[in-house]
Amino acid sequence: MAATIAIKNGHVFDPLNEINGDIMDIYIKDGKVVPELSDAEMKDAKVVDATGKTVMPGGVDSHTHIAGAKVNSGRLMRPEDSYKWNRPKTSITHGGTGETVPSVYLEGYEYAQMGYTTAFEAAVPPMEARHTHEEMHSIPMLDMGGYLVLGNNWFMMRYLKEGDIDKAAAYVAWMMRTHKTYGIKCVNPAGVENWGWGKNVESLDETNIHFEITPREIIEGLTEVNEMLGIPMPVHLHANNLGHPGCYETTKESLAIPSKVKPNQDMGVEWAETKFDPTKDKSIYLTHLQFNAFGGTSWRDFESSVKDVTDYVNSQDHVVIDSGSVPFGEATCMTGDGPSIHDIAVLTGGKWSNCDVELECGSGVCPFTYLKSNPVHSVQWAMGLESLLLIDDPWKTIMTTDNPNGGPFTKYPNVMTWLMSEAYRNETFSEVHKWANDRSTLGGVSRELSLYDIATITRATPAKTNGMAHRKGSLAVGADGDVTIYDIDPTKLDVTASYNDLITKFRYADYTIKGGEIAAHNGEIMSIPERRTYYSDIKVDANEEKKMLEDVKDWFRYYTLGFENYPTPEKYLVNPTPINVNMEK
Ligand SMILES: [Zn+2]
Repeated sequence: MAATIAIKNGHVFDPLNEINGDIMDIYIKDGKVVPELSDAEMKDAKVVDATGKTVMPGGVDSHTHIAGAKVNSGRLMRPEDSYKWNRPKTSITHGGTGETVPSVYLEGYEYAQMGYTTAFEAAVPPMEARHTHEEMHSIPMLDMGGYLVLGNNWFMMRYLKEGDIDKAAAYVAWMMRTHKTYGIKCVNPAGVENWGWGKNVESLDETNIHFEITPREIIEGLTEVNEMLGIPMPVHLHANNLGHPGCYETTKESLAIPSKVKPNQDMGVEWAETKFDPTKDKSIYLTHLQFNAFGGTSWRDFESSVKDVTDYVNSQDHVVIDSGSVPFGEATCMTGDGPSIHDIAVLTGGKWSNCDVELECGSGVCPFTYLKSNPVHSVQWAMGLESLLLIDDPWKTIMTTDNPNGGPFTKYPNVMTWLMSEAYRNETFSEVHKWANDRSTLGGVSRELSLYDIATITRATPAKTNGMAHRKGSLAVGADGDVTIYDIDPTKLDVTASYNDLITKFRYADYTIKGGEIAAHNGEIMSIPERRTYYSDIKVDANEEKKMLEDVKDWFRYYTLGFENYPTPEKYLVNPTPINVNMEK
């Protein structure tokens, strides 16, 4: 049961309320932030003394891969991942293993001890939605949601090619409801379909096989449908040509496509009172900018072109990005972009798996080690930090590692510290290949992010981007009682001398409070709080839906399962929490 808590005298960083380190008390009752507690309530309240400490809303990860078929393939493919990394069971927790692809229990515990309370699985293939929800069901500590992979879906491509935007919208709405997912993911549009024939597409105007639709038409159509329906978050785009030298040009062109699409968020929720506008104001959310900003023409003249893309993002108001930072060491690449994973597997010569999810999408998995001695990996490290440091406005940036593609989420503390400390960046420059300095602009960047900026890019921006700011990413009255307390005294913080200390403090939050319950304290799991799964319950015109379903039912003869077995029932979800979308229909 959610407790009553008073967090006293902490330095509060709450960007959605423009609170920058002020000494304040935060009160939580019945799982929600309240303005104050009565004397009687204070008697029963748990009091946490946060004097000389940093208080932020609970962390929100808007892009991670921790549940579903490809994550499980990653676990199966690399038993070596489990040998060295394990966590023994306690009286209230399960044991677990795995560094880059931990077992489900471990994922929840490790996120919680870093101060995170919410995470979104960024790629749910429709036919694997049940499996994804089953894994999300087993991940403790976190509120979750998933993005449905639709960029190469046969019905989407058909309706968009026919120019039938209403039918496309009816299909998206039905699919979100059917699979209990939250937002739209678009991976290598048109290209993943071609991968079924061992091919890809190379430009935004190249048509794919059979459907004869271009990436540009898919991005245009999906972003239009997304805002037509008023889906909580913008389309989450993994652009074409990802991971190929020179791909930054395609990325820039892709971002320009929805520049005229007006953001529309039609959600039936009660908004917590925040000073800063918490509603969606972007029409595209680019994933892992680092992987989408490769410059040069080959691996020989490979260089960072992050600045080319960030100059564009700085000049526009419709784009938000996450970084896909690379903290070095072990990673497991996994993506719906089958051809890009094949290219990585050819480069590494190591293990590789590839899967085609029938008429809907595909995925690939490939273990990977980022080495400080490797010239390209060193540039990628610099690029992941450039992605966050070269964009002036932190309301346009979200810190991620595209877990576990750039590296595991457990290395977020290193990324946060590199962003805050030029001295730490300089130390790393001295250890890595000189290409990092020669072929990126990072060496010339003296910007050091503040704790307020960190709270923005790990809490406020992901919550606002995803339409979750009515509950998450802020400490406004009415928001969820999710709070992180770091043992960091902002008045004594010295990012030049003691950056190593900072990494440890971000890694093990002093307290992680979820829904008013103390979930973790100094790396130890203290309780297993209640969780929710969010999904978009989108209404559309009943006639339009009926017409669309006639097509879908007809094509189900080509699926390996029956139409009745296709939907994911609510019982697969923990505490299913639908968000009502497009209510006037
Ligand atoms: Zn991803």
